[in-house]
Amino acid sequence: MKLTPSADELAYWLILHQDKVVQLGEEPGLLKCHWSALDFAAAYAGEIIKIGEYRQHNCYLLDLGSESPGSPRTELVGLRATLMTQSSDAYQLIARGWQLAHFLRTHRYCGQCGRSMHLVDWELAMLCHGCGHRCYPRISPCIITAIRKDKQILLAQGRHHKSGMFSTLAGFVESGESLEQAVHREVMEEAGIEVKNLRYFRSQPWPFPHQLMVGFLADYADGEIKVDGEEIIEAHWFSMDELPLIPPAFSISGQLIEATRQLIEG
Ligand SMILES: [Zn+2]
Repeated sequence: MKLTPSADELAYWLILHQDKVVQLGEEPGLLKCHWSALDFAAAYAGEIIKIGEYRQHNCYLLDLGSESPGSPRTELVGLRATLMTQSSDAYQLIARGWQLAHFLRTHRYCGQCGRSMHLVDWELAMLCHGCGHRCYPRISPCIITAIRKDKQILLAQGRHHKSGMFSTLAGFVESGESLEQAVHREVMEEAGIEVKNLRYFRSQPWPFPHQLMVGFLADYADGEIKVDGEEIIEAHWFSMDELPLIPPAFSISGQLIEATRQLIEG
């Protein structure tokens, strides 16, 4: 629901410009200030969306879209760099706010009849008054899995990991597919092996732009590593004491690798 906060409300703010988070020279993340202190945002009164509560204050999203804040006080920080430093509560709010902003930016017109869409005020959805078509924020489930073989873990380097980072295997769930089927298919497609003994681990919203990563631990069953050469350019079994560059601990991939380490070192 869009609203205008009162000038003297002390709140937390997630302010977005394009794919950046607007900062006022403090720690990256949610800004704590009064609405009246956001002088550059006055034109957006009535465009504010509440995304939750944080430390006993309301937390609001303000999406400037392609408009620059135009204030010398502000800095812009990338979403990924911002999320890396957050507590899990703040992470969740920022991820949610970013996904909502992305949803609103990409659902301005009806996909069925082409008329303008409107944000409804009883739930988070965009509605076309012309044909009744309704859209909800998009969430794309992806599986991500750590595969253990004796005392080793399978890690792969994706084509897009320019830094040379090796990570756990991951991929989008396809229409009509269960999460478990997606794990077996992705692992076979990307690394050419079969896995068994899938155990649900945990999940993590990954707002780049709207994935829900569903983590599994798995054991090697059969086959030799054979990478697809498309998404994955290299994959190997690694011992825990000779890991390559891996994802940070805040990511579910980093957590899956740590969980596998604990299984191995048991
Ligand atoms: Zn329509």
